[in-house]
Amino acid sequence: MKAIPVPYVVRRVDDGAAVEIQWEERGHVARYGARMLRLACQCAGCVDEMSRRPTLEPASVPEDVRALAVKLVGAYAVHFSWSDGHATGIYPWERLLAICPCAECAAKRA
Ligand SMILES: [Zn+2]
Ligand SMILES: [Zn+2]
Repeated sequence: MKAIPVPYVVRRVDDGAAVEIQWEERGHVARYGARMLRLACQCAGCVDEMSRRPTLEPASVPEDVRALAVKLVGAYAVHFSWSDGHATGIYPWERLLAICPCAECAAKRA
């Protein structure tokens, strides 16, 4: 079984316009744009549970959407409350790592 990545720090930055995740004690810090995270929500309201296809209309998410609150969900995930009123999505660490926007991860995925 693969070890589940657990970040050291998860915090709102720029008044919630972005969320910073520090994956390792030293280094590997990534800054997730709030809108990018909001659009990556996989809750039942944003993704069809049967087909896993996104049902969220990107145009319905404001360009300036912000993370109002960040809350840990057990040891495996984090929950965001968004300024567009959406607050039902939880983001497992694995999912967040899979969409990590840092240059190194982006290069690995490319
Ligand atoms: Zn959602
Ligand atoms: Zn990364």
